[in-house]
Amino acid sequence: MTATPLPTFFVSHGSPMLALDPGATGDFWAELGETLPRPDAILCVSAHWMTTVPAVSRAGRPEVIYDFYGFPEALYQLRYSAPGAPGLADRAVELLQAAGLSPAVDPARGLDHGAWVPLRSIYPEGDVPVTQLAIQPRRDARWHFQVGEALGPLRRENVLILASGGAVHNLRDLDRSNGGTPEWARRFDEWLAKAVVAGDTETLLDWERAAPEPRRAHPTEDHLLPIFVAAGAAGKGVRGKRIHQGFSLGSLSLAAFQFDS
Ligand code: ZN
Repeated sequence: MTATPLPTFFVSHGSPMLALDPGATGDFWAELGETLPRPDAILCVSAHWMTTVPAVSRAGRPEVIYDFYGFPEALYQLRYSAPGAPGLADRAVELLQAAGLSPAVDPARGLDHGAWVPLRSIYPEGDVPVTQLAIQPRRDARWHFQVGEALGPLRRENVLILASGGAVHNLRDLDRSNGGTPEWARRFDEWLAKAVVAGDTETLLDWERAAPEPRRAHPTEDHLLPIFVAAGAAGKGVRGKRIHQGFSLGSLSLAAFQFDS
């Protein structure tokens, strides 16, 4: 048990190319790893693992999953050799069961790029054990907030809850010439930051109605859902902080948030 619960985080993992060319976002991730109290293990909630019920990975030596296509060969050569965290997986299952959420366990799943791209910068030594938690694309923000609430006790057990997705994520509306960030993307990004900073949980969970052009920012909600797990683990009404911002490829947000309680 820790005296102060660890904060939870949501990071936008951007394009897989950030693994090769991490830039300012990579610098931010590295600094995050250097300044945080060192956790015993990480529970990474990734947008790139989707299941019908909450699922946790339980591999002892999770392999790197290259779940992207058509990128430079060098990207497929990158490794991240952090150990798994089967003990944390068991504890997460116990907490989810206690909340009536009927979790599943995947004994073999490795780390997808939603997890390993930021983690390679946050903990470059790969010496903090990590397990993943899946999202449920057929469930809404409120559901994911409840999953987070169920897992909140982990924060006092020196577990870092790291949610990884994208604050604005519309792959059909990217600008590969990097011509600038469109207004709709900037407005959604600012709306999200405002709701997080205000600790306005109800507005945040009501994003589909309350946010500007929600379906332009998220044609599907998979990259937004992880933030609700991070917020839920911190608790209702908890004010968050925007700890990083930026865009790549025009509209792809790189924003990151920290939730403390
Ligand atoms: Zn992604």
